[in-house]
Amino acid sequence: MASNNYNAKSPSAREFINHDEIMSTLAWARENKNNSELINQILQKASEKKGLGHREAALLLLSGNTDEIFALAREIKREFYGERVVLFAPLYLSNYCVNGCVYCPFNAGNSTMPRRKLTQEEIRREVIALQDMGHKRLALETGEHPEQSPIEYVLESIKTIYSINHKNGAIRRVNVNIAATSVEDYRKLKDAGIGTYLLFQETYHEEAYNKIHPSGPKSDYAYHTEAMDRAMQGGVDDVGLGVLFGLADYAYEFTAMLMHAEHLEAAFGVGPHTLSVPRIRKAQGVEAANFTHGIDDETFARIVACLRISAPYTGIIVSTRESEDCRKKVLDVGVSQISGGSRTSVGGYDVGDNGNCPDTKQFEVNDHRSLDEIVQWLISIGHIPSFCTACYREGRVGDRFMKLCKTGQIQNCCHPNALLTLQEYLLDYSSARTRTAGEELITREILKVPSEKTRGIVLENLEKIKQGSRDFRI
Ligand code: SAM
Ligand code: SF4
Repeated sequence: MASNNYNAKSPSAREFINHDEIMSTLAWARENKNNSELINQILQKASEKKGLGHREAALLLLSGNTDEIFALAREIKREFYGERVVLFAPLYLSNYCVNGCVYCPFNAGNSTMPRRKLTQEEIRREVIALQDMGHKRLALETGEHPEQSPIEYVLESIKTIYSINHKNGAIRRVNVNIAATSVEDYRKLKDAGIGTYLLFQETYHEEAYNKIHPSGPKSDYAYHTEAMDRAMQGGVDDVGLGVLFGLADYAYEFTAMLMHAEHLEAAFGVGPHTLSVPRIRKAQGVEAANFTHGIDDETFARIVACLRISAPYTGIIVSTRESEDCRKKVLDVGVSQISGGSRTSVGGYDVGDNGNCPDTKQFEVNDHRSLDEIVQWLISIGHIPSFCTACYREGRVGDRFMKLCKTGQIQNCCHPNALLTLQEYLLDYSSARTRTAGEELITREILKVPSEKTRGIVLENLEKIKQGSRDFRI
């Protein structure tokens, strides 16, 4: 149902995220939002668990069928991800920035934001603090600044991070969230062994985009929107899309993000590895309430549920921008990865947010709990906390990962790997209470590993972990 110059395969941002196609999709969805026959057909198709196109997804999002949507999202989440929830933390390297993003306190015009960039020695201290919490997976964050944080600085930092083995700790997967860059730089990131390359579109609505990105390289909408194509051309296997909800109409963003995923699938044969759903938060000099497209928790959960239904094989990430209550709700209907114990300041893990350092926080988090509290909480509400990084280290990335997902095979490794990495966490980092709850969980869950042979290997490896060995994976 193409309109105007919409072309999912095109390399041009304005063709694969085509404004007219989005507007006509939304008009059609609004017209049909009470058409129960059509909605039932779409729900029927969705129940085959092979995903939906952006038009069908937009109609579900705008329809009134809340109970059915949430029930189906829950079912898909359970089938593809079980109860596992993967944990990670952001690590801010530098907040120098040449861009003018009005929602972000790191923007170049904010003269009251203290600027800081970590030295390699400071990165070591941050990483040791993160390892001491139990983290194995990081998302690197920097502002965009050709002099302060050129690609060489990011590459050196990745090397430093991977080189630190402190006690039983090691960061096993470094995901990278840095500004849009060239194919050549993406190739360097790939060679440095990054996990996922994350880049949030912020908003897909070009007019809104131009208004809130008044200056700096990020103000080039097409260059930013086409970044994932360059990343894939540079050999990056896993890319993560995201929208900063609150900047423009949520239904527009939702439809466009799915079109972006369809584009990557059409052009490169593999969709995004993850979808992130950050919402704007209060920050130094930034009032979230000034952004008129804010959404309530109910709508937010509905977006997550519709993403889960539309892209069953794609991870969905939610950060500490969300409260405990909200995270509980969205974990239930689709989220597969969450951050925990996060600091959004440069150097925040080593000194803590209330240390002597000037306050360089990017935004106020909404979930202040420690990683241990989050692990304990996840267990208490029926989830399996996972520190697994196996897929990427076993080369199960990009289209290989997607193929395994689509055939359900990923289940045979993810569940046992979650139990093995949780066991490491319990022995090395957890409180006594979390350990008791975690050990009980492992004892129960081990019985659910279907293959007797795999169960035997897992039991053997759990024993070896108790004897002091580490880093087993299926
Ligand atoms: N500077 C790079 C960029 O802009 O692409 C890297 C990521 S930046 C450190 C991380 C993300 O934080 C941005 O992409 C944006 O979506 C988000 N962000 C900025 N200001 C925020 C705010 N006030 N509340 C919540 N998220 C915010
Ligand atoms: Fe800089 Fe990124 Fe913040 Fe924009 S969102 S001001 S590019 S750090």
